[in-house]
Amino acid sequence: RTLKVRVSMLADEEKPGVAVVLHDVTELRQLETMRQDFVANVSHELKTPLASIKAYAETLRMGALHDENKNVQFLEQIEFQADTLNQQIQDLLQLARVESGEKTFSISDIDVNLICETLHRQFLDAALGRHLELHLQLDQPSPMARCDVEAIETVVKNLVINAIHYTPEGGRVSISTKAEGRWVVVSVADTGIGIAKEQQARVFERFYRVDKARSRDMGGTGLGLAIVKHLTQAFGGSVTLDSQLGKGSKFHVRLPRSRNVDAV
Ligand code: ADP
Repeated sequence: RTLKVRVSMLADEEKPGVAVVLHDVTELRQLETMRQDFVANVSHELKTPLASIKAYAETLRMGALHDENKNVQFLEQIEFQADTLNQQIQDLLQLARVESGEKTFSISDIDVNLICETLHRQFLDAALGRHLELHLQLDQPSPMARCDVEAIETVVKNLVINAIHYTPEGGRVSISTKAEGRWVVVSVADTGIGIAKEQQARVFERFYRVDKARSRDMGGTGLGLAIVKHLTQAFGGSVTLDSQLGKGSKFHVRLPRSRNVDAV
């Protein structure tokens, strides 16, 4: 623990003495260290794509602009890095708004199957492009959850994007829904690279990546799962992970189930 000590002389001539006051500043120190780490991480993360953009622009200016084999490829890289930077800023702002409690949610009864069907349709091409099967398994009647429609869309979308990114060709990604007592569970499972036991809790931390290079190549921001965790917690839900290295991962999102609402 960190203690701050203040010593003062007591100005009483008859009973001279010394007063010692101890302040436990452990938590303040920890908060300050976390804040400093966060600022250092953000600057580093934002500088990485910026440095690439600068390097490609410089190389083009120094002559590559006239090299027909390279110029388009370098311009595409500049575009890709700019998109990554943009996504990072958006993710950071979104996370900050959720964490500070500033983000307002509009809670209503949401048809979870409908959300999953829409996302399944939206990601079919991306999955096919990577030679993956994108499977959908929906509980009937359609489970209804008390949550914010945009938030749940972001949560499932982030999980599906990850599953597609971290699953090698020929694999399978499944989105499923299930009503379980007071909860509606949305699961995103893949047959991908998996996550080792000791890293499973850490992947929900901001900027934590098992393989930094792989994540960056995919345009990852390292914030997707932190956003998933904070959004689900914001409306009383939770997210858990069940994974085996080399076999695949299953993310389960638990959302509060609507009461007395029949499926539509
Ligand atoms: P990123 O933008 O790097 O994907 P996330 O916060 O979404 O950031 O995920 C954090 C890390 O967790 C990833 O970098 C990756 O190492 C790991 N990860 C996330 N989803 C999966 C998955 N479905 N399979 C294997 N690893 C995953």
